[in-house]
Amino acid sequence: MSTPTVDYRCPPLLLGGEWRTGRHAQRLAVHNPATGERLDELALASADDLQLALQTTHKAFDHWRQVPAHERCARLERGVARLREHTERIATLLTLEQGKPLAEARAECAMAADLIKWYAEEARRVYGRVIPARLPNSRMDVLKFPVGPVAALSPWNFPLVLSARKIGGALAAGCSIVVKGAEETPASVAAMVDCLNQELPPGVLQLVYGVPSEVSEALIRSPIIRKVTFTGSVPVGRHLAGMAAQHLKRITLELGGHAPVIVCRDADLQRTVNLMVQHKFRNAGQACLAPTRFFVDRQVYGDFVDAFGAATQALRLGAGLDPATQMGPVASARRQAAVQDLIDRSVAMGARPVVGSAPATGCFVPPTLLADVPSAAPVLTEEPFGPVACALPFDTLDEAIGAANANPYGLAGYLFTDSAKAILAVSERLEVGSLAINGMGVSVPEAPFGGVKDSGYGSESGTEGMEAFLDTKFTHFVA
Ligand code: NAD
Repeated sequence: MSTPTVDYRCPPLLLGGEWRTGRHAQRLAVHNPATGERLDELALASADDLQLALQTTHKAFDHWRQVPAHERCARLERGVARLREHTERIATLLTLEQGKPLAEARAECAMAADLIKWYAEEARRVYGRVIPARLPNSRMDVLKFPVGPVAALSPWNFPLVLSARKIGGALAAGCSIVVKGAEETPASVAAMVDCLNQELPPGVLQLVYGVPSEVSEALIRSPIIRKVTFTGSVPVGRHLAGMAAQHLKRITLELGGHAPVIVCRDADLQRTVNLMVQHKFRNAGQACLAPTRFFVDRQVYGDFVDAFGAATQALRLGAGLDPATQMGPVASARRQAAVQDLIDRSVAMGARPVVGSAPATGCFVPPTLLADVPSAAPVLTEEPFGPVACALPFDTLDEAIGAANANPYGLAGYLFTDSAKAILAVSERLEVGSLAINGMGVSVPEAPFGGVKDSGYGSESGTEGMEAFLDTKFTHFVA
């Protein structure tokens, strides 16, 4: 496939049913992390812009909630068809502003389309239920209604997919939505939103960029917003949860992970390494479900470290638009410094690094395996959110499960074995929201995705993800 070229421009905001330039005094530069080149400047939402977004979403909700589910589904499906037509352009924008290889950007666009398509279909299956009545001539029903206007705050690592999860669920359920996209990656999300918006009544879907704290305060404090959904870091999630609690708003939080991988001695080692190297270094490791802590049976630990280390060192890094690139840069100079610092602190405590190579310019962090990691090393508790894996041997499965659970996060986990006993033990006792056994598929549109412990609460995708945008009403009718 030939590499497309696009003219990169920061988008305006989608406000009040129109694309308008943000009126904030401050603007933000957007950079290409592979080169450091300044791509454009992003106009941000002012306080007045945010008030317009709130008034618009209020009005649009009154209309959209009454649109029949079949029509909501049809409109969303037409938006998805547009999104699929524009994949090449959107994927190229994503690679330019975020850094991931173009093949990954195309896959992300396809995944975003799948997510919205699944939610669109699910709109037609929002059932209530009938409860057997206690009295003659009476009915007891459970009814479902859209919760109301939604504020969605989504991050820069998978800007399309993580916005699509929120947009698809909210719109399918009959809610209007104001999305704050990540300021680091504005153009790809705006291009996706444009495809959907062309099939929607004005104001149902709005997109803003701004000073994050100003946007979240304005939206969460407003009585118009009834539901908040956030994907990002634990400290910001805690802060937003506090604000949502103060205003008694429902909130879904997806706050990252530090996924354990348990590799038993009977696992197919080469297959495990092939799958996990690919999964670890996808998006330069900037994925909340990325496998990070590898607990490997001592009998096969040496072979595992050798094979994983060799595959790590063989990875080819470069700009995402180069078809030969297997791993791109991390998203920003700030993230580059943070990941390198975590590696350095862990090596200083005795972890043994096996390091790949990286270009000298741009925001690259070489893919790194840290072997024989001492239990106090910071990489075992701090989320690297970068191309870093760590490996430790274990002697018993109980010890591996205990070590895997000794971490504040609980999003995804992985297990490689054919032992039924091990599968039962790990699926019962590993503290995670999703577990893949002999594979890596922990996130699909039709299944719930969410964490436990510091990884947050609530689920996106699946029927649970739809439920997050619905209120329940019990009606008891006596004739
Ligand atoms: P950060 O805490 O600085 O920001 C995280 C996100 O929250 C950004 O999109 C930012 O714009 C937004 N944000 C910050 N303050 C906010 C506020 N007051 N109101 C609303 N939004 C606000 O983290 P970062 O350095 O950009 O990213 C690195 C960390 O974030 C990682 O360690 C990882 O844990 C987490 N993260 C997780 C995911 C995920 O998929 N769960 C995605 C991106 C980042």
